[in-house]
Amino acid sequence: MRIVDLSVAIENRMDVYPGDSEVEIGKTSEIDTEGYTLSIMSFGSHTGTHVDLPLHCIKGGKDTASMPLDSFFGQAVMFEAHDTLKPVEISEEDIKRIKKGDIVMIYTGWGSKLGSDEYFENIHGISMELAEKLIKKGIKAIGTDMPSVDKDGEGIVHRLLLSHDIVVFECLVKLNEIGSERFEFFGLPLKIKEGDGCPVRAIAIINN
Ligand SMILES: [Zn+2]
Repeated sequence: MRIVDLSVAIENRMDVYPGDSEVEIGKTSEIDTEGYTLSIMSFGSHTGTHVDLPLHCIKGGKDTASMPLDSFFGQAVMFEAHDTLKPVEISEEDIKRIKKGDIVMIYTGWGSKLGSDEYFENIHGISMELAEKLIKKGIKAIGTDMPSVDKDGEGIVHRLLLSHDIVVFECLVKLNEIGSERFEFFGLPLKIKEGDGCPVRAIAIINN
């Protein structure tokens, strides 16, 4: 068994999606004076590697507390799509690899831009047609190393997927280290009432 950590570390001054809240992590107690450390953390619900819940785009949609837990882990199937100059497509032939209830993982190589200004620019996400095909296949979640499944400034693919209770994992890293077509994926959010999204500790467990 092999475990790959698919998450970015959350830290002060890290880059966030344009317009999102900055990360602020501070100490309210210090070990040298009080004998223990306590921290206060402030960051947006879509900071770093995170999951989007239906409530993100759908009025009255499920939140991090009400979404069934099995949406956040299970059998994942990997697809590679390296042409990120246009929305990601998956061929009809490849779509056949998807089983009902799968988590579809899309590796584009976008994660290599992490830490540069380009990471949050010119994102094309996935095509509407692909989102519709994935809904028909009955997937329960989608994950990608891109910061969004939508083109910059658009939310149409998010709305489509989330309206079918398909959760969306974004800003995953190290998808290239998985090296297996199928694996187990875990990405559980904190149980926050009215949480529209949440950073997750995303991991892949490879059993071969
Ligand atoms: Zn998001």
